[in-house]
Amino acid sequence: MSEKIAVIGAGINGVFAAYYLAYSGYDVTVFDRGDIDSGTSGRFHGMLHSGARYATNDAVSAGECITENRRISGMASRYVEDTGGFFLAANDDESDFGDKLYDACRKVGIDITEVPIEEFIRENPQLSMARRAMRVPDKVIRSYEFVVSVAASAHLLGADIKTFSEVKKIDLSDGSVAGLEYERHGKIYKEKFDVVVNATGPFSGKILERSGLRQTPVMPSAGVMVVLEGRVSTSIINRMREPSDADILLPYWNNSILGTSAVVVEDPDSFSPEAEDIEMMIDDMADLVPAIRKMPVKRFYYSVRPLIEEESEDARSASRSFRILSEEGLNDTLLSVVGGKFTTGRLVGEEVAQRVMRHFGTVSDLKDPDLEETVQAFEKRYSSDPIIARSIGRRGTIDEEYAGIAEAYAISSIIGGGK
Ligand SMILES: Cc1cc2nc3c(=O)[nH]c(=O)nc-3n(C[C@H](O)[C@H](O)[C@H](O)COP(=O)(O)OP(=O)(O)OC[C@H]3O[C@@H](n4cnc5c(N)ncnc54)[C@H](O)[C@@H]3O)c2cc1C
Repeated sequence: MSEKIAVIGAGINGVFAAYYLAYSGYDVTVFDRGDIDSGTSGRFHGMLHSGARYATNDAVSAGECITENRRISGMASRYVEDTGGFFLAANDDESDFGDKLYDACRKVGIDITEVPIEEFIRENPQLSMARRAMRVPDKVIRSYEFVVSVAASAHLLGADIKTFSEVKKIDLSDGSVAGLEYERHGKIYKEKFDVVVNATGPFSGKILERSGLRQTPVMPSAGVMVVLEGRVSTSIINRMREPSDADILLPYWNNSILGTSAVVVEDPDSFSPEAEDIEMMIDDMADLVPAIRKMPVKRFYYSVRPLIEEESEDARSASRSFRILSEEGLNDTLLSVVGGKFTTGRLVGEEVAQRVMRHFGTVSDLKDPDLEETVQAFEKRYSSDPIIARSIGRRGTIDEEYAGIAEAYAISSIIGGGK
């Protein structure tokens, strides 16, 4: 097909949109002002949600999460650690909340099981403060390798990926998009496109504002995560209560990641956390997991959620579902993605592609990327690349798992150069 589609943003939503659009036969170009996965998708908490966290207050998002959790686990087992998750109560109020959580999870089809507390503590003596325990299918996902492999699948289908290329402005003419202007290596370029997909996440309002368009209803909500040295548990620990600050402790490589907070911010590019945020989170989780007080804080990091602004009073009550919005008067030639979770990025990409196909009156069955095939095809096609060759050479050595990250860097730098 000759229709040209620009996708702005190479986070989870942008790379899946690019993959499905390229699969449908469109001529796709992806732009990111940084590397692939350099936005919120590369700075999140690391959970492939079962949906249990949202089951009591956001059934739509919980349902999307459990469906996508199963689908992504099948598609990307190489990047997913099936740690499982526990909801644990630290006090009577949290124990009481367990009944509501159990019913809500069952209603949306999340497999939740109560584990007798004596049995749980026998198996997890370091978590002896727990009063009640329920197991859910939460998992851990390694973001960078996963997002790069989806981008690589799009590249193999012909998508042109331009990293370190900032879109400055979307150009319009007579009720549709005309193209865009972007800066790459200090030079400004103009390119024509038939459709532009704004997948810039929390930054989606900025690009529209610069183009003289109406802002998306995005509510940027910042969150901090604390990286602690060592693991408390091989499973994810959730507080048995409504979503709140410091309610998740997640094992990642040899560390634990504690998070998170939720503060609505004016500008997603200028947020920096306070030392008190970190102390508050450690104090709160220590009620349930006293051991974390003795775990050295290695570092912290933060990012901004692209939450939907409508109908919500604050960042905690805002929906975790997503919308694909069309700019008024532009006849679906400019689509902006708002909201969502890392867990639901595949679904966003699929719906974006369906929306674009509807616009052009075309129909095509969509197939998920085969990420194993993608990695093998890459290794074959680019076997002379020195980093790819070295990372293949680490197979069968003590560091095989870590070489996957090096390989993702190599793939990203090969495909990010554009054509
Ligand atoms: C603290 C926190 C913890 C979270 N934890 C989880 C979790 O455990 N599990 C889960 O499922 N979800 C989690 N989420 C939500 C999830 O991370 C986000 O919903 C998701 O990553 C958003 O993806 P995105 O593609 O929309 O945005 P992004 O990943 O931010 O991608 C947007 C991209 O656009 C690029 N960009 C911006 N402006 C321009 C421009 N002008 N030109 C070119 N490129 C541009 C950026 O560089 C960026 O790479 C968390 C979010 C936060 C904030």
